[in-house]
Amino acid sequence: MVLMRQILNFLGRWIPLGQVDGIKIELDPWLVLMLGLILVIEGWSAFIFWIFVFGFVFIHELAHTFVARKLGYETPKIVIMPFGAAVQIVGMGSVPRHEFYIAIAGPLSNLVIAAILLVANITGSPFINKLAALNLGLALFNLLPIYPMDGGRILRGATRMISPHLSAYEATRRILIFSRLLMVIGLVACLLFCSFGTLIWTLLIAAILWVVGAAELNSLKNQDEQEQ
Ligand SMILES: [Zn+2]
Repeated sequence: MVLMRQILNFLGRWIPLGQVDGIKIELDPWLVLMLGLILVIEGWSAFIFWIFVFGFVFIHELAHTFVARKLGYETPKIVIMPFGAAVQIVGMGSVPRHEFYIAIAGPLSNLVIAAILLVANITGSPFINKLAALNLGLALFNLLPIYPMDGGRILRGATRMISPHLSAYEATRRILIFSRLLMVIGLVACLLFCSFGTLIWTLLIAAILWVVGAAELNSLKNQDEQEQ
């Protein structure tokens, strides 16, 4: 019972990993559990591969953070979760041009890493090729024009740059309709062509994106109403 309570306590608390240039880095305990299970079930090579995955995801977040700081935003925290990572940017989305630059920095960092790995892999190591493909995959996945992923944020920034009269709420509302249409099409395609495991992951990610997108739209609506 005590052990069970300790495990539940552990899983409910973010693990502080330290600070980089004043930015707190925190780890979701569920990620530790997931990596532990990968090590036990699939062994060392899978475990090391996943450490690389989260390492590249972390670099991706650092790229967002770097550009956000250059543009004068506060970035108090980066959190790393089993579904990816996120940087907290205070006031993100207030200036469309800034949102565009900050959002595109993450996928661009993965494209640059993929290019460097491919060029540097003179021995043709399959592991390095796999890491390059992983970065290419991370970049392309994040560039999907689905809000609140980077691609959706790039689209929102660009839309508001082209149509400055659109409020953040209205632009987000329109992009969410488009995002949800894409997600439904993707899910139907996955239902037809994906394996059961991939389908479950896709459903889970789509559900998270759906809920987070709705929550962000709701908070923008409240902001709009307060300003009026
Ligand atoms: Zn990103």
